[in-house]
Order: sequence, then structure tokens, then C-alpha cells
Amino acid sequence: MPNKNAIAIGAHPDDIEFYMAGTLLLLKKAGFEIHYLNLASGNCGSAEYNSTTTRSIRNTESRAAANILGAHFHPSITDDLEILYQLDLVRKLAAIIREVKPSILLTHSPQDYMEDHTNTSRLAVTAAFTRGMPNFKSSPSRPVADYEATLYHAMPHGLRDQLRRRIVPGAFADTASVHKTKHEALAAHKSQQGWLDVSQGLNSYLLAMEDMSLEVGRMSKRFQHAEGWRRHLHFGFCKADADPLAQALGPKCLINKDLCGLKVIATTAGIPVPATFCCICNKRLHATPRRFLQLSGFSNFQRPRNHHTRQFRRPIQAFADLGFERDLHASFRGRSIHEMHHALLILDA
Ligand SMILES: [Zn+2]
Repeated sequence: MPNKNAIAIGAHPDDIEFYMAGTLLLLKKAGFEIHYLNLASGNCGSAEYNSTTTRSIRNTESRAAANILGAHFHPSITDDLEILYQLDLVRKLAAIIREVKPSILLTHSPQDYMEDHTNTSRLAVTAAFTRGMPNFKSSPSRPVADYEATLYHAMPHGLRDQLRRRIVPGAFADTASVHKTKHEALAAHKSQQGWLDVSQGLNSYLLAMEDMSLEVGRMSKRFQHAEGWRRHLHFGFCKADADPLAQALGPKCLINKDLCGLKVIATTAGIPVPATFCCICNKRLHATPRRFLQLSGFSNFQRPRNHHTRQFRRPIQAFADLGFERDLHASFRGRSIHEMHHALLILDA
């Protein structure tokens, strides 16, 4: 691992505490220096005070929360609803990332209930992408460095995307041991109690965090409290099999094996992934097309026409091309879904 720095990049004061703080605390316990940045100041989070006063109150609360987490605090770079995917914000965020040099970057889900969150995710991805590019100027100017960074996306609010579809994490972090501290850090955002009651009908933002933490814990089928993560595609960031979060958290990180199945194949269809590793669990792939066909009961298999290229085609489409689509589900009966996932990826290699 190139370094032991991790940064959480949230949209608003209290977002890190809602979605990421447990994992950040676990990384600290694993010896990481942890960094805390909300892109926006939280200036719109009040019906009682004006923008300037609210910005100041929330800055104080955020600093207190970062202090509770034991994280380095980075001041906000814009205001609420002004987190737009625009050049000046990419340059400012690039400067912070160049200073911190995180090997682990935690940020929002690319799909989330509000655009400030989704834009934060996009800005974080782009800013991290430029970390080794001298011709992209950060603001202020900071030296570039060549190192691996792995990006992880938190669960969206309500565990759903903008179109109400359920989002399932690729990995769970067991946050029970640090839950109390996470709760304390969230409680530092005192001004939000009244505001979220009014604006979003949350009885208590603390209860909302508790509910989400327990719900993700239930999804893991193992942990009481959990945060869910989806790993960003590695191109431009790190090696294909890099998973420093799983490495750092050890048994407190559970790879969601339920995702190693057809559903993921379908949703990742068209996205190129390396043939030698499973995109979910990093397990090296051993199965060959012929072996897969033995496993799945196909007998008259012919290789897809593009087998000699490294380009991936849609696995499901590959099956359709071979005339197996109608029998696909029947052929999986009784097989380990994990085995099928590996085999499907190989099939399309
Ligand atoms: Zn937010």
C-alpha cells in the first residue's frame, strides 16, 4: 500500500457522519491518518438564521465533529446547492487531494437523492483522477504525485437511487465497535435537529442514522451496525485487484458474495473488467469456458466470435448469441452463483 491516508469527501456538514464515519474510524484504528471534508458549508441548512450565520454555526459544528472522529478537518470550498460539476471546484478539490495523497477515498454514491451528493461524487472522482497529471492545474497549485488511490462510494440516502431502485453494496464495514463515536460526531451537528424536522420530516437525524446503520447491518446478514460500500472501477486509479479498504479492515469488512451473481453481470454489462479477477470479490478466476459449460450442463459450446480480443461483450448477450438465452436460468439451477459469475466473466474474455 503506497500510504496510509484516507479521506472522506461529503457534500454537507453531517453527511460524513451519516454515511462514512464508522468506516473512517475503523481506518484510523487500522493506522490510517484520516481526513474530513464537506464540499459545501451547510449555509442553507436553517430556516432561522441567515446564510452567513448558518455557515459559521455549521463550520463550528463540523470542526467539533471532525475532532470527535480524530480527523484532519478541511474547510468547505463552496455553499449548499452550489456543488456543481465545474472546473473551479475540480481545481480546488484536486489541490486538497494532492495535499492529502489518499490511498483510500470515501465519497457519496454516484446515485443519490440529491444532486449535491451526486455532484460531490463526480467531483471527487475527477479530482482524484488528476492527482498525477502535471498539466492539470490545481487551485492553489500543488505538486502532483504518482500513487494508487482506490475510491469507494457510500450508500445513498434511503439505500435507493433517484429512480427508487434499491442499491446493494459490494462490501459491508462492521461499524458496531465505533458506532458510539459515530453517533457522538453526528450529534455535534446540533443545529440540524430542528432543521431536518422542518425540511425533511425526519423525527430526529440521529434516529435516521441509527435506522440506516441497522438496516445496512441487516443487509450484511452478519453485522449489527454496518456501512455499505461500492468500489469504483480501477481504471486511472489503482490496480484491478486493489481493495485497500478490505485489506485494512480485515474481518470487519465483508465482501457481499450475494452480488457475485447474474444480477451484477447484468448491471455491469458493457463495463470492461479484467478477466483474471472477479470484479466483486477479487478472487482470481480459474474457470475456463469449457469447464463452465461442463458445470452448467451445456454440451455443444462454441466460443464467442470475439474470444481473441480483450474487449468484453455483454455476458448475457454472449449467451443469447449462442442461442442459450431461454435456458439460461434453468442451466444455473443447483450451481453456486459465485461459480457462475466467475465462469460468465471468463466466457466473455
Ligand atoms: Zn447532504
